[in-house]
Amino acid sequence: MLRRTLLKKFLSLIPMAGAIGAMLKRVSAKAIFGDYDQREHYYAMGIQIDKCIGCARCVEACETENRVPKEPFFVRTWVERYIINTDNQVSVRSIRPGRKEPAAELERDILRSFFVPKLCNQCENPPCVQVCPVGATFVTEDGVVLVDKETCIGCRYCIQACPYGARYLDPVTHTADKCTFCYHRVVRGLLPACVEVCPTQARIFGDLKSPASPLVRLRRMSKIHVLKPYLNTRPKVFYTDLDGEVR
Ligand code: SF4
Ligand code: SF4
Repeated sequence: MLRRTLLKKFLSLIPMAGAIGAMLKRVSAKAIFGDYDQREHYYAMGIQIDKCIGCARCVEACETENRVPKEPFFVRTWVERYIINTDNQVSVRSIRPGRKEPAAELERDILRSFFVPKLCNQCENPPCVQVCPVGATFVTEDGVVLVDKETCIGCRYCIQACPYGARYLDPVTHTADKCTFCYHRVVRGLLPACVEVCPTQARIFGDLKSPASPLVRLRRMSKIHVLKPYLNTRPKVFYTDLDGEVR
């Protein structure tokens, strides 16, 4: 019951979910979600590294959908370019939408190069939830880690606890924020914005409780990796073709 109350508050505070938020103040969650039952779903994301072309359209779409503050630089999802040189030096840099990459002649002796989209891993064993002193960060029954801005006191414990650098402090509300899998869209049957715009289907969103979900098929057919598996956070962002150099 507490989680449902937090969830209602969460949805009511999302800028792009304005219509939902306004309705939530007046009517029950049942009326908002209709037949949607959290217990019937369990969300996760797949990322196919060999399909990502580094266009950063996902980053742009996320910024717009979630009104991510531009200054100072914050992101809910980002794309890293990994370059491994012939002398085994590894360099990583963040791809910014619209920013020109260095000319090819400046990039000599490249052994391999690839793009790695990153975001909150919606961990099943999330340290950010464990350290929150007021219970503002919580996990929904359908497997999404959310922040209740009205309860958050901005102590930053969760930001420090997240081993993936997925959280930031919103400079306007002074509360913690991060990727929500576009929860306000997902409960209405829509895809997260980053998944919807990806031109190569490098990102796949899915419901692990639905056998027909493309993510279930991806997990069945491919070798799956997660980031920092040794931390036992049990991430729900699953990568295929992940290079051993990725941290
Ligand atoms: Fe929490 Fe970080 Fe895991 Fe996201 S990636 S659930 S913010 S610990
Ligand atoms: Fe990669 Fe798709 Fe994002 Fe483009 S939109 S950077 S292809 S994940």
